[in-house]
Amino acid sequence: MQTIREIATLRQIIKDARHRGQTVGFVPTMGFLHEGHLSLLRRARAENDLVVLSIFVNPLQFGINEDYNEYPRDLERDSALAEEAGCDLIFYPAVKEMYPRGYATFVDVERLTSGLCGASRPGHFRGVTTVVTKLFNIVTPDRTYFGQKDAQQALVIRRMAADLNMDLEVIVMPTVREHDGLAMSSRNVYLSPEQRKAAPILYQSLLQAKESIKKGERSAAAVRNQIIQNISAEPLASIDYVSVTDTTELQEIDRIQNQALIALAVRFGQTRLIDNILVEV
Ligand code: AMP
Repeated sequence: MQTIREIATLRQIIKDARHRGQTVGFVPTMGFLHEGHLSLLRRARAENDLVVLSIFVNPLQFGINEDYNEYPRDLERDSALAEEAGCDLIFYPAVKEMYPRGYATFVDVERLTSGLCGASRPGHFRGVTTVVTKLFNIVTPDRTYFGQKDAQQALVIRRMAADLNMDLEVIVMPTVREHDGLAMSSRNVYLSPEQRKAAPILYQSLLQAKESIKKGERSAAAVRNQIIQNISAEPLASIDYVSVTDTTELQEIDRIQNQALIALAVRFGQTRLIDNILVEV
């Protein structure tokens, strides 16, 4: 496995692979890898000849008071994990390689980015879609892999790829969880032992919501209130949002019919965690 820091070098390797008729699978990440990332890499390994992982903590997708500087970074550990999962190449660019002096171009997906995390993190998705477009242009993958953990991001990337005629397939993989149900996230390392103990309340409240829907509840407001009550009972948790939306346009719904996405963001101290569940009736 090779680690490459320059765009030109990576392009050459990919060009050579393409000449040999190889297909390219691509997993974009911010590193500090966990089983969620590795599940994407393994799927990419199974479906492509060349597997490329990018590790780039993208300053553009962080707000000014967010955790860009604190975000955990450990290339050595990531390299070992990635190699074991079947990765061939790690693309690990410096910020100035991606955004050199004079950089002025941005990609914006409208509507889908206005609610949920887009509402609480202004500019976040513009940062994501810009960097992902650049990475797609550099790596030119046949297939790219994203996690359902970031449900809104996955939809936004799908929309962007379709709207901009990007010649690739977007594959979305299920959320990988800890044994107690907490969705794996690089940010989980920020949690104090007490916060970590409390954090599974997110998934538990999503599962309880799913259960009441199964029992016949169809009011989105009732489902939402149940989740809010549940999480508010945990003193360490502070709710950013709880949303019940349709699964394509991410618009808040009144009645739960067919499919719905229940998504939430909750803070434990400074740490903002997200989770979601898809329900079908
Ligand atoms: P990140 O490094 O957090 O930007 O995540 C990189 C990719 O891994 C994104 O497509 C995420 O949705 C995906 N991912 C992160 N956590 C998980 C998880 N627990 N299960 C599945 N995929 C995940």
